[in-house]
Amino acid sequence: EEHLVIMDDAAIRRALTRIAHEIVEKNKGIDNCTLVGIRTRGVYLARRIAERVQEIEGKPVLVKELDITRYRDDGKALGSRTEMEAGIIGEMDVELSVVQDRNIILFDDVLYTGRTIRAAMDAVMDCGRPQSIQLAVLVDRGHRELPIRPDFVGKNVPSSKQEQISVTLTEIDSLDQVKIIHQ
Ligand code: 5GP
Ligand code: MG
Repeated sequence: EEHLVIMDDAAIRRALTRIAHEIVEKNKGIDNCTLVGIRTRGVYLARRIAERVQEIEGKPVLVKELDITRYRDDGKALGSRTEMEAGIIGEMDVELSVVQDRNIILFDDVLYTGRTIRAAMDAVMDCGRPQSIQLAVLVDRGHRELPIRPDFVGKNVPSSKQEQISVTLTEIDSLDQVKIIHQ
């Protein structure tokens, strides 16, 4: 196994600062936007971007969380069936008032086939009719199986299917780092 660091903490910090500016510019402000983080690490990315946008715009930013487990088309559940039945996961923090006529910006750590984002779009559109849905990811590793592309990208990392991207964030992993792992 071989590890190669492709983003250190400074690189991640700069990428998130750039994305915050890009989001504000594309949306001409932030008033009508809802940032939606896809669990788990997308949530921390959304929160970090919200902090930066608040510094830029001087107003609070709406951040919500989404768990798309129930919406996946391949049954690749993150938790067990019993957890799902007990309602521990799959809880919806996204509702009509934060979706209807607003610009929804989805956040995830890694974009791969696009199936997670398709599921996230389904979940959002089940709640209401957004003005737009946009996508921000820390890493785009390629290999799309659906017609989905990100609007905001931290880093494009061409990868082989055998490789894995390791994303660690201080909030849960005590270190900000992106690595590519060759098995
Ligand atoms: P997709 O649904 O686009 O195939 O995969 C994206 C989802 O799976 C994201 O939620 C992401 O967290 C996870 N994922 C897919 N590939 C990788 C990878 O190489 N590294 C990491 N850390 N997550 C991945
Ligand atoms: Mg994920």
